[in-house]
Amino acid sequence: MAHVELTDLVKEFDDVTAVDGISLDIPDESFTVLVGPSGCGKTTTLRLIAGLERATDGEIRIGEDIVNDARAYERDIAMVFQNYALYPHKTVRDNMRFGLEQHDTDEGIITERVQETAELLQIEELLDRRPSELSGGQQQRVALGRAIVRDPAVFLMDEPLSNLDAKLRVQMRAELNKLHEELSTTTVYVTHDQVEAMTLADQIAVMDNGQIQQVGEPTHVYSNPRNMFVAGFLGSPSMNFLEGTLEESDAGKFELDLGGAIHNVPDEFTDALEPYLGDRVTLGIRPENIALNQDGVPANVHPATVEVVEPQGEKTVLELELATGQSIKAAVDPDTTVEMGDAVNLRFDRDSLQYFDPTTGKSLT
Ligand code: ATP
Repeated sequence: MAHVELTDLVKEFDDVTAVDGISLDIPDESFTVLVGPSGCGKTTTLRLIAGLERATDGEIRIGEDIVNDARAYERDIAMVFQNYALYPHKTVRDNMRFGLEQHDTDEGIITERVQETAELLQIEELLDRRPSELSGGQQQRVALGRAIVRDPAVFLMDEPLSNLDAKLRVQMRAELNKLHEELSTTTVYVTHDQVEAMTLADQIAVMDNGQIQQVGEPTHVYSNPRNMFVAGFLGSPSMNFLEGTLEESDAGKFELDLGGAIHNVPDEFTDALEPYLGDRVTLGIRPENIALNQDGVPANVHPATVEVVEPQGEKTVLELELATGQSIKAAVDPDTTVEMGDAVNLRFDRDSLQYFDPTTGKSLT
């Protein structure tokens, strides 16, 4: 096992800075997920750790060793790719044996490890087949098996589930969780799918533009985003942002003038928001933290009109228009009976409010 440490890591390709000064501590036995939109530098970061790219600057440490100059095969890692990358002419058994044979592993150990791993992944009956005779899910299992059999210090996984259909993806996600519990191998996992990131990670690193925007335990990052990018990236449907001018009422309370509607700022935010009096401030509220409240206290509700009703099974997503003309989404109980055109009152859960500086995007709370 090993921890991985990236320090001020930079990778430039001609005029593109794919990785722009990343520092990240990946603890031993952790499942760390790099997540972010397409092109943000996730894969390049993983390939740098793997030794498939050379860093332009910065340091990569695996365990106690600085590995910047070590070749891929000299690093104690195993990589699982999106497209499985199995050898098409080899059987499953030989695909799994190959990495061990390259490292001159003893024949007895090879046979034992392949058998153990096949049992762990429940692919024993597939050992004599070739990749073309396997389903996508089975191929991905073999690709995982090929990594597991090597018993490396670190697994590097690049979107390993993205070629599977939705149902299989959910199933494999649960299996990856279970495998990690059993093996505890330090894992760095790349995905652009925030649900995958939230469910698999014990540490999540949200990336944008070659930089890490925030690192932490998934639920902590979800509830305490450092900026509007992280707040908007994590969560589906994504967080609503409503921009207004911060004012002080005659009663000394802070309120956000949303241009035709007033949002009352709870007292506990007064200190943090005081420097912004008179300035623009963005309120962030997640769809699941909005309730429909037909008879709420007027000070805390926002009248809105239902524009779209989208039942999604475990929740119903409503698209609404506020009196200010702004659009907002709410995720409500599927039993909620509302129709297009209904006038409703929205109540924002006061414990889930976030405030941001609309210019820098930084969280103010
Ligand atoms: P995706 O989710 O689409 O795979 P990503 O977050 O993994 O995206 P990278 O593949 O790391 O992003 O790419 C980061 C940036 O570096 C992109 O702008 C990409 O075009 C560029 N890039 C990556 N590899 C190369 C390369 N070999 N040569 C030139 N530019 C590259």
